[in-house]
Amino acid sequence: MDTELQHYRGRFAPSPTGPLHFGSLVAALGSCLDARRQGGQWLVRMEDVDTPRLVPGAADAILNTLEAFGFEWDGPVLYQSRRLEAYAEALEKLRDAGMAYGCACSRKEIADLATSVAVDGGQVYPGFCREGLAPGRQVRAWRLRVAEEPIAFDDRVQGRVVQHLARDVGDFVLRRADGLFAYQLAVTVDDEFQSISHVVRGADLLASTPRQIWLQRCLGFATPAHAHLPVAANGAGEKLSKQTLARPLATDRAVAELLQALHFLGQAPPAELASAGLAEVWAWAQANWSFAAIPRQALIVIPPT
Ligand code: GLU
Repeated sequence: MDTELQHYRGRFAPSPTGPLHFGSLVAALGSCLDARRQGGQWLVRMEDVDTPRLVPGAADAILNTLEAFGFEWDGPVLYQSRRLEAYAEALEKLRDAGMAYGCACSRKEIADLATSVAVDGGQVYPGFCREGLAPGRQVRAWRLRVAEEPIAFDDRVQGRVVQHLARDVGDFVLRRADGLFAYQLAVTVDDEFQSISHVVRGADLLASTPRQIWLQRCLGFATPAHAHLPVAANGAGEKLSKQTLARPLATDRAVAELLQALHFLGQAPPAELASAGLAEVWAWAQANWSFAAIPRQALIVIPPT
């Protein structure tokens, strides 16, 4: 992070692929309370670039749920679907600098020829198209050349994280074969655009952070401070998500859900708050937020509700 004192700007960046569930509430609450506690701003960004995964109406439903839970964000919501020009510009800059290159490989070709497994369970791209395309091959996707040296950062919750991009990830996709911009590029361009100084999000994104730091370096952007919160998992150890059929948040039980999220984050709200109103719960949470109390784990199993 920049050593100069900078004004705190945090964000919550949901993907409108379904309703908010307990796991998203933890990320929203943790990022919001950390920002408010430090006198900072807290923004909401709708990460709606991955159009095939979007669920109609989910973006509005997410905002309505946040409102019903008493969240207040600063400024208008930024929609990534309206930022395509900025992503195209960043890609062009990387291409012009020789850092990004066109790749002709199909998924099948990579699956057949790749030899190592990447951090996210996919395959490390073996760099076939790095030195140019063989005659007759067409560009499908755009990839970023990664650093040979390890990328390290100090996460405020998870501690020191070191990742060797070339070995653990490989040159990664910035623009997909279907023409859509990849999450890694969009999130990096927007964190810079919105002057985000602190990223607070779920530990499921921890393995993505070195890619984002590398992109920030390639684009000449500042790197924000990072805090990766524990992720809520079901009894089978699976992260709560739409895929694992996590229950949507119940707006008529907002106080109970918020208190559960506070407990999950290691906070100790008094039992009397169970019968209090939303405003009282927020007042307590803001006055008593203890970052140090957040469990330093990547995954916490919660009982079904
Ligand atoms: N949109 C991403 C998600 O919902 C989060 C991005 C981020 O916080 O960096 O998983």
